Amino acid sequence: MPPLYEYECSCGNEIERVCSVKDHKPRVKCECGKMAVQVLGFAHVIPDIEPYRSMVTGERIKGRAHHKQHIREHGLIEVGNERLPPRRPKPMPSVVDDLKRAFEETRRR
Ligand SMILES: [Zn+2]
Repeated sequence: MPPLYEYECSCGNEIERVCSVKDHKPRVKCECGKMAVQVLGFAHVIPDIEPYRSMVTGERIKGRAHHKQHIREHGLIEVGNERLPPRRPKPMPSVVDDLKRAFEETRRR
C-alpha cells in the first residue's frame, strides 16, 4: 500500500495525497493556486481495518475498501464522520450605533 502524505497550504487547506515513495513531492499545488508544503517529514501508512461483522446485514466486512463500499451501499454514517452543518459566523454588531454615540460625544465637547 502506498504511503499517505499530508500537506498544508497557507490558505489553511489541508491536502492528503497517497502516492508511491518515488513519485512523492515535498510540495503540491493547492486548489487556491498556491503551493502546499508537506507537514511531516515522513510518510505514514494507513493500516487496514480489522475484519468485522456488519450490524446492518450481518455480512463479514473484510477490510477498508469493503467497509467503505458497505457504508455507501447502505447509506451508513461512521461515528465521528458525520457531516456537520456549516457554522455561520455571527453577524457583526451594527457600527451605526457606535458612530452615532461617537458623534454625540464629540458634539457635547
Ligand atoms: Zn491553498
